[in-house]
Amino acid sequence: MNQLLYQGKAKQLLATPDPQTIIVRFTDTVTALNGKKRATIPGKGALAAQISMRLFELLSTQNIPTHYIRQLDQQSFLAHKVQIIPLEVVVRHYATGSITKRLGIPKGRAFQPPLVEFFYKSDELGDPPLCEAHIYALGLATPHELAQIVSLAQRAAALLSDYVAQRDLKLVDMKFEFGRTAAGALLLADEISPDTMRLWDARTHESLDKDVFREDKGDLLRAYQEVARRLNLTRSLSASGEGQGEVEGQGEVGTGEVPSPFTERGRVR
Ligand code: ADP
Ligand code: MG
Repeated sequence: MNQLLYQGKAKQLLATPDPQTIIVRFTDTVTALNGKKRATIPGKGALAAQISMRLFELLSTQNIPTHYIRQLDQQSFLAHKVQIIPLEVVVRHYATGSITKRLGIPKGRAFQPPLVEFFYKSDELGDPPLCEAHIYALGLATPHELAQIVSLAQRAAALLSDYVAQRDLKLVDMKFEFGRTAAGALLLADEISPDTMRLWDARTHESLDKDVFREDKGDLLRAYQEVARRLNLTRSLSASGEGQGEVEGQGEVGTGEVPSPFTERGRVR
């Protein structure tokens, strides 16, 4: 078993023989309200992992530098190890959640151009909002790095939004984390899944993301399964589902089972 380097709220980081890479393993734990609300939902980790891998692959094809290297199993992928910049970069296309309360903006209002916000990634401080000056005062990034981060976040958000729109999903908002490799490269890291994005059914505006858990509005697994289905990932996840903690390995990416965004390139703007 690979050495556990970090146990997070939803994922584990495991060592590999190569100090430059790590294994990102998605667990079935789901948390909200800064960890105060938590549950174990068997099958959730595999779904979040599969969705995340698909979306990292998509961004890689569009020249967004990410930490994702390749799938290892249903719940894990190999990634470039980075030093995470403790900055949560939130891109909002529509208002919902904290911003509606903080600024009194009505739920559902569109942001054009998309709104980019920063939060300090600190469980201890409750992830407070940061402005640019705070970021420099805390020494989190240089102005040059922050410009790069914002540009990557804006491009990634636009690509993801277009991609899911073709699958009848509305990308409402999302949270990105960035990190630096030992060689100094800036990479989009962490995960891109319904744990870290808000996805609504394009027609009904039904939540298909972690808000289902946050707001106790139904079956989280079913919501994530619906996202996976719309991204054509369900065949690779046929062993997941109610009551099953582990998903049987059904081969890795590249077996031809899972349609990859590489083959759908024409659909990605
Ligand atoms: P947390 O409770 O800290 O949010 P998670 O459950 O999300 O933890 O586990 C993932 C942790 O690993 C996060 O702290 C995230 O910042 C960090 N991380 C993500 N990708 C990488 C990477 N490529 N290299 C190093 N750390 C990473
Ligand atoms: Mg996290």
